[in-house]
Amino acid sequence: MDTETPIKEVIEEIREFGGEAVKYCYQCGKCDTVCPWNKVIDFSIRRLIREAAFGIPEIELEEVWRCTTCGKCPQECPRDVKQIDDVVAMRRIAAEYGVSSTLLKPVRSASASLTAEGNPFVQDRSKRADWSEGYNVKAFNEEMELLYFPCCYVSYDQRLMEIARATAGILNKAGVEFGILGTEENCCGESIRKTGNEDVFKTLARENIKTFIDHGVKRILVSSPHCYHTFKNEYPEFKANFDVIHISEYINELINEGRLKVNGNYSKKVAYHDPCYLGRHNGIYDPPRDILKSIPGLEFYELPESHEKSLCCGMGGGRIWVDTKMSERFSNLRLEQAIETGAEVLATSCPYCVDALEESRSGLNYEETILVKDITEILNELI
Ligand code: SF4
Ligand code: SF4
Repeated sequence: MDTETPIKEVIEEIREFGGEAVKYCYQCGKCDTVCPWNKVIDFSIRRLIREAAFGIPEIELEEVWRCTTCGKCPQECPRDVKQIDDVVAMRRIAAEYGVSSTLLKPVRSASASLTAEGNPFVQDRSKRADWSEGYNVKAFNEEMELLYFPCCYVSYDQRLMEIARATAGILNKAGVEFGILGTEENCCGESIRKTGNEDVFKTLARENIKTFIDHGVKRILVSSPHCYHTFKNEYPEFKANFDVIHISEYINELINEGRLKVNGNYSKKVAYHDPCYLGRHNGIYDPPRDILKSIPGLEFYELPESHEKSLCCGMGGGRIWVDTKMSERFSNLRLEQAIETGAEVLATSCPYCVDALEESRSGLNYEETILVKDITEILNELI
């Protein structure tokens, strides 16, 4: 009896926090065969789901924090076990009980900074729009066609700022009336939600929604598939339905309407990496490819694991804040796949992916072998 009560309580908590579907698992193991972790270590989401179904997940162990929420195993599962919801439920229990581990130190710091400054870097909110200085970017007003919402990484990280600047260059060239909200924006909250910090997510989301409504925002353009996913699929939980468009879709719109012309030549072999939150989570596969294929001189290469089978970069699910051992990084494998195809440039359309792939590029000494670019950076050179 003594041992049954806590187990029942844990099962009840997993259910309450959104992991009810663990009970449908029949241990077929299809999830483990596609999980990218099994390319680098021995990890079993099947085993974790089984422990959760019996109310005995060891929430203090790193296993609970491995899942990058890449979306690969849910699409294979014959019983709709909703593995991402299940691991997030376990993380929510850990957050509720203040489970501490060295691994989670940076997550705690990110969470505190998100609450205080609206970004995960312990950076001043006042610096959020600094990337735009000198790039002809105005403050948003409701007469404008769209609000450009660069994510926190694109706003603060020196390398990733180049994506925001390239985006501004493209929008200005096409004559788009756009603006930013700068210091009034918060992080979209996608990653912190996946770490189980539901309260922080809700605060960020509610503040953003209020800001968007107060400023009369109708259409939101985003660089990050993580912002896209959150605004499009999660903010409606708060009855907020904005028209959200990813930059890869919007550039196609501009090209198709004749508002943007690609003039330059890009004589390079370019492979495209599908970001999980753009592809698998939101079904956007063609727009980035269409842009790359429309560029004169560019030779387009598909990677071995592409479209629905894309190999995760390793940064989702809050893993962007966790220090992953060099030998365990999926982005190393991805970069090597690109090099093996003969590509000179690995293009993608997500700041998290660019960050991970750039780290692999320098960590593995491939600086002279291959470039990593967001599609906006390639296009901005050619218009
Ligand atoms: S694929 Fe689904 S049913 Fe099969 S072991 Fe994994 S979670 Fe369970
Ligand atoms: S969502 Fe991706 S990382 Fe998470 S368990 Fe499934 S396959 Fe592995």
